[in-house]
Amino acid sequence: MSKHRWFEDLNTKIQNGWLLLDEPLNKYTKTRLGGKADIVAAPGTMEEVQAVVTYAYEQNVPILLLGNGSNMVVRDGGVRGIVIYMANFNHIEITGDKMVAEAGAHIIDASRAAAKACLSGLEFACGIPGSIGGAMAMNAGAYGGEIKDIITRATVMDNTGKIFVLSKDELELGYRKSIITEKGYYVLSAEFRLTPGVQRDIDLTVADLTFQRESKQPLEYPSAGSVFKRPPGNFAGKLIQDSGLQGKGFGGAEVSTKHAGFIVNKKDATATDYIRTIQMVKDEVKKKFGIELEMEVKIVGEELSE
Ligand code: FAD
Repeated sequence: MSKHRWFEDLNTKIQNGWLLLDEPLNKYTKTRLGGKADIVAAPGTMEEVQAVVTYAYEQNVPILLLGNGSNMVVRDGGVRGIVIYMANFNHIEITGDKMVAEAGAHIIDASRAAAKACLSGLEFACGIPGSIGGAMAMNAGAYGGEIKDIITRATVMDNTGKIFVLSKDELELGYRKSIITEKGYYVLSAEFRLTPGVQRDIDLTVADLTFQRESKQPLEYPSAGSVFKRPPGNFAGKLIQDSGLQGKGFGGAEVSTKHAGFIVNKKDATATDYIRTIQMVKDEVKKKFGIELEMEVKIVGEELSE
């Protein structure tokens, strides 16, 4: 069955959201890289998410869940099948010390909402440019805090369209991993337990973390954040720096001169440039230190066909 047929079929199922054919994904990724998706579907209701997922399951069409595209490198040939974009699900609700956030909400907005309600626990996320769904999937963390510290449960969907709730333990959150990525579940929403705090302390922590991030990270260029996971007992950035790789790369992609753990799209890079640069870093660090760097970013999609 062709993408045009999927598009026609899905058009009858999505009334509240939107649907695009042959949509360039570089608009949705923080690296500004990536070819076209056959279809980008942004459902407007949970029933529509379920309808898209069930359709894909029945017709055997691959699905990719796209959050805020901040930890994803999409290859230049793009993505076959349906990309589900959860941007229409961005509601954040606070009741007492409990926060429920929908998958498409930005975790930065959740962090801001918590601070405004004088709740502590989400300060660490004040500069993480991901969605709640992506942050849950990756167990995002920074400056000593991580999703695992505050999550109580998440509502997820499996690839057949079945919806269920997973407790914190069932989410199996580890260093930049979870049962979500393991089993390919789709996060619909997450519930966090926060702690009543002191407004001034929360604001000072957020200001301090923002300063640290802005002074150390190359936020002026498109990137996917830290490309590699921290190897046990070491730091990826330090190994890359000590390998003399800063400023090196392919095409418009370059190992950041500001933070060696980042690879930036300095000027008109392609995903191929970016991925070649990742491989070059892995090879050089392996050669120099005998350490195999593991990727934190997710590389998805297809190579450009000749
Ligand atoms: P995407 O990049 O869209 O997707 C990442 C993965 O999550 C994919 O496998 C995708 O399929 C999956 N996914 C997305 N949404 C869902 C969903 N609803 N259900 C199931 N799976 C889903 N990360 C940190 O942990 N700490 C940091 O301090 C940090 N700093 C960063 C700074 C910069 C400048 C950048 C660009 C990135 C940084 N990151 C950091 C990486 C990134 O922001 C996080 O990993 C974030 O949690 C990814 O969320 P996303 O919505 O952008 O996910």
